[in-house]
Amino acid sequence: MTLTTRFAPSPTGYLHVGNVRTALHNWLFARKHGGRFLLRLDDTDTERSRAEYADAIRADLAWLGLVPDAEYRQSDRLGRYDEQFAALVAAGRVYPCFETAEELEVRRKIQLSRGRPPVYDRAALKLTPDEIAAKQAAGARPHWRFRLDTDAPVRWHDLIRGESHIDPASLSDPVVRRADGSYLYMLPSVIDDIDMAVTHVIRGEDHVTNSGVQIQMFEALGAKPPAFAHEALITGTEGALSKRLGSAGMAHFREAGIEPVAIAALLARLGTSDSVEPVTRLDPLVAHFDFAHFGRAAARFDEAELRQLNARILHQLGFDAVADRLPPGMDAAAWEVLRPNLETLADAADWWNVVEGPVPPSAEDADYLARAADTLEALPWDEGVWSALTGALKAATERKGKALFLPLRRALTGRDHGPEMAGLLLLIGRDRALERLRAA
Ligand code: GLU
Repeated sequence: MTLTTRFAPSPTGYLHVGNVRTALHNWLFARKHGGRFLLRLDDTDTERSRAEYADAIRADLAWLGLVPDAEYRQSDRLGRYDEQFAALVAAGRVYPCFETAEELEVRRKIQLSRGRPPVYDRAALKLTPDEIAAKQAAGARPHWRFRLDTDAPVRWHDLIRGESHIDPASLSDPVVRRADGSYLYMLPSVIDDIDMAVTHVIRGEDHVTNSGVQIQMFEALGAKPPAFAHEALITGTEGALSKRLGSAGMAHFREAGIEPVAIAALLARLGTSDSVEPVTRLDPLVAHFDFAHFGRAAARFDEAELRQLNARILHQLGFDAVADRLPPGMDAAAWEVLRPNLETLADAADWWNVVEGPVPPSAEDADYLARAADTLEALPWDEGVWSALTGALKAATERKGKALFLPLRRALTGRDHGPEMAGLLLLIGRDRALERLRAA
């Protein structure tokens, strides 16, 4: 049986860091084991699901290089859910309930006031077929619950959390279908995982309880449950992921000039015992991916760490990897010179503006700069021109260190810091360099 994972977002918003981490881990695990990675759009919530979000999810996955082997949409599969739903009703595992939300709320409050857990009391299970028929004849439309088997804990060996169990007796029978006929998340997900032959469900630990319930659904449908891996959630630098980062879509990082591979490199290792490496491709991440390296503690996502990692990755990327995203006219030679100074690719445009100018004229050292211009004019324009220029100025003026270099850098670039002047001067070119030195 082919190892199969799935990423199952609801297209009700953009992917954020936590979702992307889940997608990445499903992809890495499938790739590592020669398996299949599916994208399943959980779009049974027709009010909140939108085509534009589905498109954005596909685009973000493509940007990250996490291309699915197949895509499914739950909204295409409603007929199949009806079939399996009917089978569970026939088997007595799903039963109709007629309580209103208000009634349930009152019962819940009474239970809580008596110090009892607010678990659904299964009153609807006691309805006779005649009572049910009478209610339906009177126009009442039921919602439907899955009857949990509460005899024993549900146990599984979690690939991250180890031996795990939940006690179904502490849970309410989950509602699987609403009175309007629409399905809630739980059951369609299981039906899909069975039909799509999903072997591994990898998701956040906020789904641990769901897994206990869903294992019973797999069994009720006559299927062997998949393996589960529940990952510790991501937090921000100060506890919970900040609202901004928690909801920041990939567009935020794309616009900030972050390389997709930097996001993958960080999210592949966050919360594991492996160090984060500045990789330029996904392959090394595939090779190292292993649930045995995952810890139980929440993983801390730090945008500053992402930016540093991004810079380290960028400094290794060849011109071809970035050429189509560079400002027009910026060639391979310019990339080599400017690359070490970039934190994100967006900074390339900034330095390219420095090369192309204009730069603000320098307000100091006019005599020195005029001498520099004359000296430069007389020198051959070649790879050694910067060292020839500064060598000649040093001999003629006895300036050294900062006094020798900084006025030149300021006049030529308008800044105090930046890439190596030897390379930068060549990019600026002879005419512009002379003009900038003389503008002082
Ligand atoms: N649509 C569910 C979610 O986004 C999927 C959970 C799962 O992986 O089964 O939480």
